[in-house]
Amino acid sequence: RRLDSRSGLPGGLLGEVQTPITLEPVESVYEVTGELGRGKFAVVKRCMEKSTGKMFAAKFLRKRRRGRDCRAEVVHEMAVLELARNNPRVVNLHAAHETDHDIVLILEYAAGGEIFDHCVSDELLPEAQITRLIRQTLEGVHHLHQTNLVHLDLKPQNILLTSQSPPGDIKIVDFGLARRLGVAGELREIIGTPEYVAPEVLNYEPITTATDLWSVGVIAYMLVTGESPFVGDDKQETYLNVSQVNVDFSRDSFSRVSELAVDFIRKLLVKAPEDRPSAAECMSHPWLWQQQLCLSPEPVTVRHFRERSCGTKWAAPPEDPE
Ligand code: ADP
Ligand code: MG
Repeated sequence: RRLDSRSGLPGGLLGEVQTPITLEPVESVYEVTGELGRGKFAVVKRCMEKSTGKMFAAKFLRKRRRGRDCRAEVVHEMAVLELARNNPRVVNLHAAHETDHDIVLILEYAAGGEIFDHCVSDELLPEAQITRLIRQTLEGVHHLHQTNLVHLDLKPQNILLTSQSPPGDIKIVDFGLARRLGVAGELREIIGTPEYVAPEVLNYEPITTATDLWSVGVIAYMLVTGESPFVGDDKQETYLNVSQVNVDFSRDSFSRVSELAVDFIRKLLVKAPEDRPSAAECMSHPWLWQQQLCLSPEPVTVRHFRERSCGTKWAAPPEDPE
């Protein structure tokens, strides 16, 4: 493992956190109930703070993984959440506990589940809802990128909703692979989920903010079609599909998808990272603003991104909501 010359931590991990990591048992502060999800090294459970009755999500992260001490990785995940604290599209870190085996992150509870549930073909959301969710995702990603953070594991399982039906606002979770750009020279070798990961990641080429925009393209694709664009019968085939950008917009699944949606996705699923639009540039794509200005104006955000996206590759959003 390479060590960061400045922090002495592996792979440019962040080591400083403000949130106290308490040794007090989780169960004495919270009533821990059902499981919300799980990954390779984490289990997430719903819990209620006894003193306030407020709901939270407790993410139990194993400190030892594959026989290796990974406490630094967990602390890094906390540090990233703290850096994103003022980002309203990122789940808030409330507290942290430590046990013999785990560090437990007490997170803001996103009651609406994963947007993955809306990527299943027989219950797709209307495009007006999809564009609202993509706009919010882009706001969150833009905010992260402005802090020099890259998420690197954006996928429908890591974008949650504050409420289920009607779908609420998005919250980005899972900062286990997130990195701060520019702390340890070039960033390579961070492997997310092949299905959702950009070609430069699979090819061990430098990782930039553009890597996250690829994933936004994959997420938009899945929300409008209910299908995963690059998944193959095995890992090998998926890798090949991604690195060849083997994507077909004439498939049946696109029969009811608007041309603007296809245009948006097409511009993100581009092999060369430097040719992908930034999150701010994406915000002015007409797909995101077609009928929505009257439905959900969010005027401050609109103005914010209009002013920011200089040198935009796309036309400005329509001035007239009609
Ligand atoms: P992993 O690193 O194991 O993928 P995640 O942080 O992605 O862990 O959490 C796993 C799953 O748990 C998520 O996909 C989601 O379904 C659920 N989950 C995570 N955080 C929350 C939260 N704050 N509120 C509600 N559910 C959550
Ligand atoms: Mg996850």
